[in-house]
Amino acid sequence: MRAVVVTKQAPVESGPLEVVELPVPRPEPDELLVRVLYCGVCRTDLHIVEGDLPLRRTPTIPGHQVVGVVEDAGAQCRRFHLGDRVGIAWLRWTCGECKFCRRERENLCPRARFTGYDAPGGFAEYTVVPEAFAYPLGEAFDAPHAAPLLCAGIIGFRALKRANVPSGGRLGLIGFGSSAHITLQVALARGYRCYVISRGEAHQKLARRLGAIWAGRRLEALPYPLDAAILFAPVGDLVPATMRVLDRGGTLSIAGIHLTDIPSLRYSETLFFERDLRSVTANTRQDGLQLLSEAARIGLQPEVEIYPLEEAGRALEDLKHSRISGTAVLRVAER
Ligand SMILES: [Zn+2]
Ligand SMILES: [Zn+2]
Repeated sequence: MRAVVVTKQAPVESGPLEVVELPVPRPEPDELLVRVLYCGVCRTDLHIVEGDLPLRRTPTIPGHQVVGVVEDAGAQCRRFHLGDRVGIAWLRWTCGECKFCRRERENLCPRARFTGYDAPGGFAEYTVVPEAFAYPLGEAFDAPHAAPLLCAGIIGFRALKRANVPSGGRLGLIGFGSSAHITLQVALARGYRCYVISRGEAHQKLARRLGAIWAGRRLEALPYPLDAAILFAPVGDLVPATMRVLDRGGTLSIAGIHLTDIPSLRYSETLFFERDLRSVTANTRQDGLQLLSEAARIGLQPEVEIYPLEEAGRALEDLKHSRISGTAVLRVAER
């Protein structure tokens, strides 16, 4: 099968991704073999390719927003039939035994394994996934538009939960890429008043078109204090600045897996008055199922830009330089 791999981490412009031929993987008894149709591109893939996150396998096949078709199944699999359309997300295995798994916080499982990082991902014609961690994908979305939901959507959804937005409250989205443009649609459908901060004119325009009340470049220009905010940009410098525009009792939820260092916080201007600063770590399967059902109910429409599998490097470059409106998705097979 064709696959896109990274063996040696380097800036994406220098071409660390290679297209190679590899054997089709064989599913374990509890795994599905999935023929990949489309795979979304995520900032975490960029962190893995460039070395912000250490490589855990050599080579690594990135990609954790996989939409595909069940091609074969191990002997213990019962949930899906051959030919079913399934989704594969970042969280691909948890122990089921630790205190976090038992407290419905499997996203914190110390033994958790991740797609496209601890195991081969979706930048390939075939991949495998434990059946228990595959998502059934209904008919609400076609394959390219379902892909962005599987990380951008799910992680944004968890960040939104963690942001604790009061009913009808003012929510700020800081950074407006793949995850934010999906989260915005969920937040608007719930009746939150949404404000978007982005340096990109095109991103601001998309935010307004989707229904944001206000979109601008600078946090300081916001017309009102925020009841809650989600930081999508992986920039620690934005944490104090965002905390300062939170109203009393507000929450800042940090959506990214990687963030540059946060400068010192002046307590009285940031955390005092019961403002909360919270991180987001992966997702539970429950988050994924909830997001997929809410997205179908509200008719969520991810914006996608499609690239052929072989051009994964170009897609990541465009993501890095904020040249993508919505989510970049790799086309691996048409159907
Ligand atoms: Zn566990
Ligand atoms: Zn991701």
